[in-house]
Amino acid sequence: MGKSIRLRLVGWYTAVLVGVVGGYAGLLYYEVRRTRFAEVDSQLATAAGTLDASLKLFPPHEFTENWSKPLPKGVPVPPLTRSQIYSVLALPETSPELYFAVWRRDGSMMKGVGVPAEAPKPADAGPAWNFVTKGTSREVTVLGPGQSVIVAGRSTERLQAEMRRYGWQTGFAAVLVITLGIVGGWILSRRILRPIESIATSASKIGAKNLSERIDTEGVDLELQGLARVLNETFQRLQEAFDRQARFTADASHELRTPLAILRSQAELALSKPRQSEEYRKALESSLRAADRMTALVERLLVLARADAGFPGLAKESIDLGELVGETVAEFESIAHQRQITLSSEVQLAVIHGDPDALAQVFSNLVANAIQYNRPGGSVRVTLAMEAGEIVLRVSDTGLGIKPADQGQLFERFYRVEKSRNRTAGGSGLGLAICKSIIEAHGGIIGVESVPDVGSTFWVKWPSS
Ligand code: ADP
Repeated sequence: MGKSIRLRLVGWYTAVLVGVVGGYAGLLYYEVRRTRFAEVDSQLATAAGTLDASLKLFPPHEFTENWSKPLPKGVPVPPLTRSQIYSVLALPETSPELYFAVWRRDGSMMKGVGVPAEAPKPADAGPAWNFVTKGTSREVTVLGPGQSVIVAGRSTERLQAEMRRYGWQTGFAAVLVITLGIVGGWILSRRILRPIESIATSASKIGAKNLSERIDTEGVDLELQGLARVLNETFQRLQEAFDRQARFTADASHELRTPLAILRSQAELALSKPRQSEEYRKALESSLRAADRMTALVERLLVLARADAGFPGLAKESIDLGELVGETVAEFESIAHQRQITLSSEVQLAVIHGDPDALAQVFSNLVANAIQYNRPGGSVRVTLAMEAGEIVLRVSDTGLGIKPADQGQLFERFYRVEKSRNRTAGGSGLGLAICKSIIEAHGGIIGVESVPDVGSTFWVKWPSS
């Protein structure tokens, strides 16, 4: 099963929500509980303090083992009666939850309120207040005057029940907030992802039949406009590729139709009545020319098909480009001479890795065009030089030149500047498209600079390795 953006979004969102809300609720509960128990401790401290202050009023013999015996002779009689001083020993705030007890140092209880009379004296009393929790009570124990032990305590049952209730309420509120958050997040994530779904729906409607349709980029959210634009650009490229393909098929059929028509008409003409052998000969020659044209065209189409497949089997040899250019120029010398065109070259040593046959085809095409589209008495100059870290080949002519409007399309398949004239000259408009494919397969670029009626320079550049 694929990953779901929505599930992950809500998963993360839930984790964060649980962390934040749960943490906050826990902290709140802990803080309230701490404050409430601190209040209890401070209440107990006040109580113990009051008891301690009251005990200071007691005559010292009240704390001794002999407290129950009559006062010895000579000891001054205290100003208050015993029951008076004992009645002072009480808590400032009387609450049914509070209790206290005071023991003499011999372990007998002086006074206890809320504790059983026989409760034993705690052993762990010291001068510092010692707070302890005992079951459902909280107590403070401290040493009082005359080694007496004071214990002030309070039942925390009610407080604990209250805290339990508070805990449940906080927990419930947290769960409620988290649940609402998750439901809200789920709904929100659906809304967030809906535009993507709508883009997908629009995209899926665009097929081979209606490739000209586009996704409305204005209608989608800002964040998704980039995606919609990229998809539209892809459709644009697809449409162009489809159109190119359709044009290519139409052009190829068209190119084959002319020589086929010639073949057919020549055969029909020859067969229409008995003829002289010279006439048959002419018809056969004409048929052969048409067949040659078709062969050349089919061969060029095959090269382009290989180019589309990424030139499988393209050789990778070390090639001296200067030598290759020299050979090409030498091949064309007699044709140039026939056409009264001066052909010259100037080459430097430059080596690249590639397929010598394919590159020779490129050079031949460029030189052949420079001669073909030249004027009598014109010239063609081929140079190969290193320029700013690049190997640059230039084929310059003093020919017809190419209008700027045509320059951009020159390297497209079947593109010819003046269609009818060039076809009679034998061109199919595939030569430069083949050159471009081969040069690009060799990591180079090809281009043209041209001034109509002055001449053209076709250049090829490779980064020097
Ligand atoms: P073709 O086989 O028809 O020559 P190319 O692809 O080689 O096909 O060339 C495409 C078109 O570019 C040609 O029809 C021609 O009009 C133009 N062209 C090519 N080279 C030159 C040049 N050196 N000078 C002027 N026009 C040229």
